[in-house]
Amino acid sequence: MDPAHGQLLYEGKAKRIFHTDFDDRVLVEFKNDATAFNALKHQELEDKGRINCQISAHLFELLEAEGIPNHYLSLASECWMVAQRVEIIPLEVVVRNIATGSLCRETPIAEGKKLLPPLLDLYFKDDNLGDPLLTESRLLKLDLLSSKERLEIEKLAFRVNQLLKSFLEKLDLTLVDFKLEFGVNKQGQLLVSDEISPDTCRIWDKREGDNKRRILDKDRFRQDLGGVVDAYGEVLKRIQGVSSKPRNCS
Ligand code: 5GP
Repeated sequence: MDPAHGQLLYEGKAKRIFHTDFDDRVLVEFKNDATAFNALKHQELEDKGRINCQISAHLFELLEAEGIPNHYLSLASECWMVAQRVEIIPLEVVVRNIATGSLCRETPIAEGKKLLPPLLDLYFKDDNLGDPLLTESRLLKLDLLSSKERLEIEKLAFRVNQLLKSFLEKLDLTLVDFKLEFGVNKQGQLLVSDEISPDTCRIWDKREGDNKRRILDKDRFRQDLGGVVDAYGEVLKRIQGVSSKPRNCS
């Protein structure tokens, strides 16, 4: 059942954000919509919203336990979470441990190459422009954040990578790459925001040798491999196997 909520504040491709009775809190609803290629490809996937909401809650609690500030406050129901209200910085912060995806389409770096140290790429979050990769000088020109915030974002993104990578490793899962978004709350604090789920991370199953079957993330949808929700469910099942239930506000 949907929790009581206020007016719609923002609707994205995979989530809706609603006002609450508290000025500094929002309710985030995870939708079943799957989109790729800047929403040119779209499908409803039954149960995706619930699975991504639960995975995100678990992973945000993991970050919190390690002192990594993030917007998550609690679950509100199976597909809804309560989060701090933030102003999103229009940047997609991508950390890569293994070369694949756009990195291999846009450079001669070989598919599957281990990236040590991990690579961090910043993209300008703008659907109309197709989320372009930023250069150092374009980032400066856009004036999206202070140099202190920039340093802090990069430091936090690498810490998130270290933490998620070693957590998932224990579940026989490889963290290939992922995208983070950052927001700033009313107090001016920089927080990891948005979601952390198989929609935003590439995750490979170490128990599976086949290059296609091992994919447990949105690449199954992008590449028409089928079994998208089952793959996401497998990630959730392994996380639940080692974690206590995320806290619930009700
Ligand atoms: P790539 O640059 O290879 O397309 O993506 C790198 C990583 O960031 C992948 O894990 C991918 O899922 C994530 N990512 C990049 N851009 C987006 C985006 O606009 N939406 C989502 N959900 N994930 C993204």
